[in-house]
Amino acid sequence: MAVSEGLYQRMLKKIQKSESGCWLWAGATTNGYGTQALPGYGPNRRAHVLMYEHHFGPVSEGMVVCHKCNVKLCVRPAVVGRLNWRSSSELVEPTLG
Ligand SMILES: [Zn+2]
Repeated sequence: MAVSEGLYQRMLKKIQKSESGCWLWAGATTNGYGTQALPGYGPNRRAHVLMYEHHFGPVSEGMVVCHKCNVKLCVRPAVVGRLNWRSSSELVEPTLG
């Protein structure tokens, strides 16, 4: 899924940075997760996944984006990781600060 620079800038405006370092999503939510409409991909894409892919590239098959901080609303790319649930649940740490 490709997030345009314009859409990314609009997403940043929906984020409130907390003192703990989380980027809390202040936009629409589904089941406690932030959601963002993405043209061509539907109205309820997971906001943290879009943020992650914008910074680090597509999440490959067999990988899920998870929250290291355990905050569902958090969309900060640096605190989500790719969890490989097919082989030994290894967490791939992102490198962006
Ligand atoms: Zn967080």
